[in-house]
Amino acid sequence: MTVMDQFSRLGVNNPQEILESVARATQNGFVAFDLENQITLFSSKMVEVTGWHDAEMIGKSTSELFQIQDMSSPELDASADSVSHHAVTLFTRDGKQINLEARKTAILDEESKVIGYLMFFIIEDYNKDLDRAQAEFISTVSHELRTPITSIKGFASTLLNGKQELPKEKRDKYVNIIKNQAERLSRLVEDLLAVSRLESRKLQLTIHPVRIYEMVDYISEVVGSKHSFSHKITINSTEDLPEVWVDKDRLEQVLTNLIDNAVKYSPESDKVDIQISEAELEGKPMVRIDVIDYGIGISTEDQQKVFTKFSRLDSPLTRITEGTGLGLYISKSLAQLLGGDLLLESQEGQTKFSLYLTTEQHKGGELWWD
Ligand code: ADP
Repeated sequence: MTVMDQFSRLGVNNPQEILESVARATQNGFVAFDLENQITLFSSKMVEVTGWHDAEMIGKSTSELFQIQDMSSPELDASADSVSHHAVTLFTRDGKQINLEARKTAILDEESKVIGYLMFFIIEDYNKDLDRAQAEFISTVSHELRTPITSIKGFASTLLNGKQELPKEKRDKYVNIIKNQAERLSRLVEDLLAVSRLESRKLQLTIHPVRIYEMVDYISEVVGSKHSFSHKITINSTEDLPEVWVDKDRLEQVLTNLIDNAVKYSPESDKVDIQISEAELEGKPMVRIDVIDYGIGISTEDQQKVFTKFSRLDSPLTRITEGTGLGLYISKSLAQLLGGDLLLESQEGQTKFSLYLTTEQHKGGELWWD
């Protein structure tokens, strides 16, 4: 007995009505769309998860709501009981992207001709992941904030409450610690703001053509001086490099992070090499900046991890170096926003971060946000 036969026995004969009841009640969101990929039904769970109202979505193209990530999977055959599984990215109303699993099945007419599709999104895991990620994020941020705050409070109290006048040397030392910790707090807050802007897509980019050699040279000098020139930073570049189209401030942030890491995570070495050359990425003309250090390296299994939020690898060196674990996450996101990418190759004793920047003119700003 078909599902329709079962509903007929209940006196329900209109498939649209049935679908609408299910759409109102189910905990798993789903949408229906026609052969032109226009959305014809948008369940209430989808409203809750994506923030789009159904009235906004009906009639819109599915590409505005989701993208199937595994396009290579076999196309659905049109038999009534076939279901294909997909990894999809959902686009929410406030600009977030949610990755989840979905199932697609054909809607057939009375002659078994495909007239559209139903796409079910598996929401339960997404909710659990979201709650867990949020709780972890709050706990990590609180911990990161608490350390410098405790230290500022402690040294300020010592300065204020000392029974007798502290010698000038000690006083200066404590004031310096307070200043450094306040700077650490401010860097952390800046990084958190950058993450928040990136994730809510509120980051405004101002794109100009920039001569990359001069910029790398300048930032190497700044980072070198911050580390009291502990490493000799050498820049090799091919001649007549084209200009890159970037947001200068954002690029400065990325380059500073990469060169700073190269110095920080190679204390036993005394050099960092930077190579700048023309390259291609996915067929597009780019300039590639390789930042190479001869330090502790990053194991193969940790190489993806370092690009995620708050990831600091567990090593004695990481424990004694300062950092938020946000730098590479921000850098990779920015590189991609600027139309390029940030890739990593590493083994023990050598790490190479390759930053790709586009040489093609683009207008930036809202470009990646639509
Ligand atoms: P952090 O503020 O901790 O430096 P990043 O996001 O810049 O944060 O880097 C994340 C982690 O990746 C670091 O804590 C470190 O463990 C590892 N890492 C980054 N760059 C290097 C490098 N050049 N060599 C070895 N490990 C690195």
